[in-house]
Amino acid sequence: MNLIDCHTHTQFSVDSDADINQMIEKACDIELAAYAVTDHCECNRWYSKEHYTGDDTYQYYDFGTDFENSVSAVTRLKEKYSGRLNLICGVEMGQATHDFDIAEKIISDSRVDFVIGSMHQLPKTEDFAFLEYDKMSLEEIYDLAERYFLEISKLCKWGKFDVLGHLTYNLRYIKGIGGIDLDISRFDEIIADSFKAIIEKGKGIEINTSGFRQKYGDAFPSLKYVKLFRELGGEIISIGSDAHCVEDLGKNIKDGAEIALEAGFNYVCCFKERKPDFIKI
Ligand SMILES: [Zn+2]
Ligand SMILES: [Zn+2]
Repeated sequence: MNLIDCHTHTQFSVDSDADINQMIEKACDIELAAYAVTDHCECNRWYSKEHYTGDDTYQYYDFGTDFENSVSAVTRLKEKYSGRLNLICGVEMGQATHDFDIAEKIISDSRVDFVIGSMHQLPKTEDFAFLEYDKMSLEEIYDLAERYFLEISKLCKWGKFDVLGHLTYNLRYIKGIGGIDLDISRFDEIIADSFKAIIEKGKGIEINTSGFRQKYGDAFPSLKYVKLFRELGGEIISIGSDAHCVEDLGKNIKDGAEIALEAGFNYVCCFKERKPDFIKI
């Protein structure tokens, strides 16, 4: 089986202190067919806090600096590991819909091979990781979930990323941590519309396997939605562990590959210079 890990974080992400050299060495050791470093770059917090006058919603700003540090480091390391590892310079671009100008700046950087389009928060709202679900009614949580899927739909209609990152990210916290059993099937139409928009643009989705090692216990998204993507004509699938430390690199990517196979994909994709390279699983 050819395994890829195309969603990982390093010391250049605010929530990781994984040494980038150790991450790459591990990727070599476990013989990945492709390995992408995809540090966080949140479009709505590209500048320092002072730039966003009157806005102190968030804990961390200045992602433009992190982006530059990550991309320049990986660009250098690609040369060093040439011939040894299929190393990809990626970015996990958060909240493109909140600042399309910054998103355009990120995607037009010629050093970037691969862009994951992610959604961690709604406008003027904290990351789903930090919301207090026990203080909300079930109706409020459903409303929040609907707004998440509508924001995803907006992101997909823009669609200038390569793969949609961890669809159902909100469930990591609502269901996984909060223990609230949300039935998201009521949003299936919005999800199908989002997939159709992605497919029309020749883009893909990722199977993010972080949920397997967390309380949630499943991939983001689950098999049901990977199947739906396939049924609607989707062809591009990426797999990523979303590792934030060396130990988690490559974790459950085999489970991710099995989901891809079961959904009817025989190939996964890694990206070079923003173009898909199909790898037989
Ligand atoms: Zn993410
Ligand atoms: Zn991530």
